[in-house]
Amino acid sequence: MTAEEVADLRLRRYNATVVSLNLLNPDLMVLRVRPDFPRHPHHPGQYCTLGLGYWEPRVAGCQEETLPAGDETKVVRRAYSLSCSIYSEPGRLMRLEENDWFEFYIVLVRENPDGRVPALTPRLFALKKGDRIQVGERVTGHYTLDPVKDGDTVIFLGTGTGEAPHNYMTWELLGRGHTGKILNVCCVRYARDLGYRDTHTALMEQFPNYTYLPLTTREPGVTRKVYIQDLIASGELEERLGGTLDPARTHVFLCGNPKMIGVPHRDRDTGAMSYPQPVGAVEVLEARGFKADVAAIKLKGNVHFEEYW
Ligand SMILES: Cc1cc2nc3c(=O)[nH]c(=O)nc-3n(C[C@H](O)[C@H](O)[C@H](O)COP(=O)(O)OP(=O)(O)OC[C@H]3O[C@@H](n4cnc5c(N)ncnc54)[C@H](O)[C@@H]3O)c2cc1C
Repeated sequence: MTAEEVADLRLRRYNATVVSLNLLNPDLMVLRVRPDFPRHPHHPGQYCTLGLGYWEPRVAGCQEETLPAGDETKVVRRAYSLSCSIYSEPGRLMRLEENDWFEFYIVLVRENPDGRVPALTPRLFALKKGDRIQVGERVTGHYTLDPVKDGDTVIFLGTGTGEAPHNYMTWELLGRGHTGKILNVCCVRYARDLGYRDTHTALMEQFPNYTYLPLTTREPGVTRKVYIQDLIASGELEERLGGTLDPARTHVFLCGNPKMIGVPHRDRDTGAMSYPQPVGAVEVLEARGFKADVAAIKLKGNVHFEEYW
């Protein structure tokens, strides 16, 4: 493709500008994007899409990509939860009206275990400040604080970048003076993947009802080497919470790796539920008296989830 053709595609297909790109490690970033249009009202926890043309460069060290003829002029889009850095300066919660950008927390998928070549993240990680991008005009999703009442205990359980919506929801809860306990568990492979760790540590010092619990699964000794499911089953979650897990006054939010979440399968004919293997957090929580949302029958429980793939 010629430089003129690329410039023309960018002009026609993009509607936003990269304000900043903070690489936390080579495979993890906080990306801020300013849309050309005014940001629509939305709720913390929701997501929108980001898109880049297949004509854009990819970072080195990713799975080889062979594009079918004709695809080089198409745009690849993926869903991303809105994230939030929570503070605008030390000790002061961010005010959204001060900003005109969206924040995203994104991990580079270098290789896809199922063989499908990761299309978007190798291109997102090649972006620079000032580059153009496509952002979906609709911010949407059911994963919000809607069911949470003041005084409820709120537990966020996220794997990897699954903490993104939890950060935005945490900002909302703290900003509105939520009086119940808030526990934010972030489970990653290595400590370098705890992108917002300093923010969470500062929040714990400022807000007595806020607890951050980082977990690393491949780096024992740095934090705790434990999976989220085991944390609940062993009773350690309650220890960290400083109280019992009372389903009547607690909402649990699960986001990220579908295996951690373990959404039960519902048989269309009989309505019978069966849990996936290995055991996920939903099964452990339901054994403790919780009930997960069931979108198919519009059932709102006290366990809410967002699967990233
Ligand atoms: C509602 C929703 C919100 C999302 N929000 C985020 C977000 O805030 N941050 C984010 O990094 N991703 C998020 N994702 C995942 C995102 O949409 C893309 O799938 C991901 O960025 C990979 O895109 P890709 O085109 O490079 O690879 P794809 O072709 O989409 O490859 C997908 C494969 O990559 C792996 N994968 C996808 N997402 C992740 C991830 N986050 N961590 C580890 N492995 C992953 C899985 O094995 C999956 O099969 C979200 C997904 C959904 C459905």
